[in-house]
Amino acid sequence: MSKKIYADNAATTRVYPEVLDAMKTYFDEEYWNPSSTYESAGKAAKKVAEARNVIANAINARDKEIFFTGGGSESDNWAIKGVADALREKGNHIITTKIEHHAVLHTCEFLEKHGFEVTYLPVDEDGLVDLEELESAIRPTTILISVMFANNEIGTIEPIAEIGKIAKEHGVTFHTDAVQAFGHEPIDVEAMNIDLLSASAHKLNGPKGVGLLYIRRGTKISNLIHGGGQENGRRAGTTNTAGIIGFAKATEIAVENMEKNNQYEARLRDKLIERILEEVPYVRLNGHRERRLANNANFCFRFIEGESLLIMLDLKGICASSGSACTSGSLDPSHVLLAIGLPHEIAHGSIRFSISTDTKEEDIDYIVDELKGIVERLRSMSPLYEDFVKEVG
Ligand SMILES: *Cc1c(COP(=O)(O)O)cnc(C)c1O
Repeated sequence: MSKKIYADNAATTRVYPEVLDAMKTYFDEEYWNPSSTYESAGKAAKKVAEARNVIANAINARDKEIFFTGGGSESDNWAIKGVADALREKGNHIITTKIEHHAVLHTCEFLEKHGFEVTYLPVDEDGLVDLEELESAIRPTTILISVMFANNEIGTIEPIAEIGKIAKEHGVTFHTDAVQAFGHEPIDVEAMNIDLLSASAHKLNGPKGVGLLYIRRGTKISNLIHGGGQENGRRAGTTNTAGIIGFAKATEIAVENMEKNNQYEARLRDKLIERILEEVPYVRLNGHRERRLANNANFCFRFIEGESLLIMLDLKGICASSGSACTSGSLDPSHVLLAIGLPHEIAHGSIRFSISTDTKEEDIDYIVDELKGIVERLRSMSPLYEDFVKEVG
């Protein structure tokens, strides 16, 4: 078999066999609609209730505050459009950042067309939001602050508890897109003063197409998906029983092994970072050196197109990503890399490796060994690099 190293876990993850096992019965044998009234359906409804409890406990929420959705993008849309609609009498101002996922950014842009004003906060060179800047952006008309827990491209973890504190002091609803953090970083919605939180099962070894929105009790938010009375009348659509049970199983495994997994991944990540910075010239690590997801390493290689690098890595069996999966295929450089201050030509040469507990130490060595050769070959074909070498002598 040819070699295959999957280093794109920020895009999606492998469904664990235990998760698949837990789900299977709810497709074939126990396929009942949990909203139906007969006894079998009641059993399915009970399993969904248990799943809700497992997931609520993972972030110190109450069961009634967890609403299942069709994924992270839907949860982000619901949080932002829902608050905008519910509080439009109170104000029309939203604060977010320049480095959010497109599910947040494009939702905010949509609202701008409908009379809302959005402040897109800048970030520093590591991708961190400035707390003073955030606080001074708050106006009497501010109805929502939406700042991601951890960035999906560069891995930087934002000061969520501090932001929650500021939002609370000003009486502003606080949403965080925690899709990259849920099941990977400790989250406590009480201690962190989070009012709304988005998560998605497929980023933690669960199935695709199921996510959640945590809604703190008392938070004013309109419904997004109208229809039947599922999810306590807040989110219509036949309950995704199997998906929700898989999500809960994945959460259980993730929470139980979080510390161990993060230690393992961070050690390999650091090895990858150290070897690349040492052995490849003209390279830059993107994202904060310490405050970053344990599985994320993102680099810019000067004089190289990220897309060419990706193709060459793919030929060697290495799956990585340039920026986010949603934007590959477009030639625009990543909005995140531009926001941390990189010029266009450097932002174009970026690669994200996102590893997992499946990654082996020898995979890291293989990646670096192959990468060195590929970078050298691509640069030898680059007129820009040729000019640069002539200049520096
Ligand atoms: C993957 C991702 C999303 C989208 O989640 P889906 O479940 O794929 O819709 C949103 N935000 C972040 C930060 C993500 O990484």
